[in-house]
Amino acid sequence: MVHALAAASFFLVGAVIGSFLNVCIYRLPRRETVVWGSSYCPRCGAKLRGWELLPVLGYLALRGRCRSCSARISPRYPAVELLTGFIFLLTFLQLGPDPLLVKYLFAFALLVVISFIDLDHSIIPNRLVLVFLVWAAFWQLALPERGFYEALGGALLGGGLLFLIAVASRGSMGGGDVKLMFAAGLFLGLPLTAVALFVAFLAGGAAGLALIATRRRRLKEPMPFGPFLCLGTFTAALWGQKMADLYLSLL
Ligand SMILES: [Zn+2]
Repeated sequence: MVHALAAASFFLVGAVIGSFLNVCIYRLPRRETVVWGSSYCPRCGAKLRGWELLPVLGYLALRGRCRSCSARISPRYPAVELLTGFIFLLTFLQLGPDPLLVKYLFAFALLVVISFIDLDHSIIPNRLVLVFLVWAAFWQLALPERGFYEALGGALLGGGLLFLIAVASRGSMGGGDVKLMFAAGLFLGLPLTAVALFVAFLAGGAAGLALIATRRRRLKEPMPFGPFLCLGTFTAALWGQKMADLYLSLL
């Protein structure tokens, strides 16, 4: 019962943080501050008030439209809030009460912001990758989950493999992806970085084919790869060891 209550509160806290991540996704690429200034409608500038800021519920109460100018509010706002809620819930269910929750939840929140900025603008801001890198290095020093060489190996595998692909593909894999996967590799270490790459390429390939099959993307049209690297990193961080053990037991 206590566990169920704790799990529910992790979901709610995640949804509230997801609402802040929406602000980061919108403002960071526009060089606006995310600390000051309340949320506003991008069309008419009307500030959101009180209950309208509640994650998901605010959107439902407004029926997806701005109160002043009735501009449509993208359903992506509540979607990001729900997604972050589920990420927090799954992380808590996987780790239980553990100081490492802080390490993982902050990193996953960062990955949500990186994913959606990449989807919107096809860029992965250096500042965010730097924060991820510093965060991974900090935890490697403060509360290491694996040895120094496993962590370094993960960074070199993640950054190195994507660097080779970026060179071979002449730019369809961007420098942002390379740097992101270097940081994610340090965060995950070996062998989890290999799992993350495997999941990223599998999911990216499947999504690419699905988009081509439904004619929403042309064959050579570039597709942001950051979201798939983030998905792979998230999956590997929570379930990678189990996946790696299962794979090795099949050999
Ligand atoms: Zn408006």
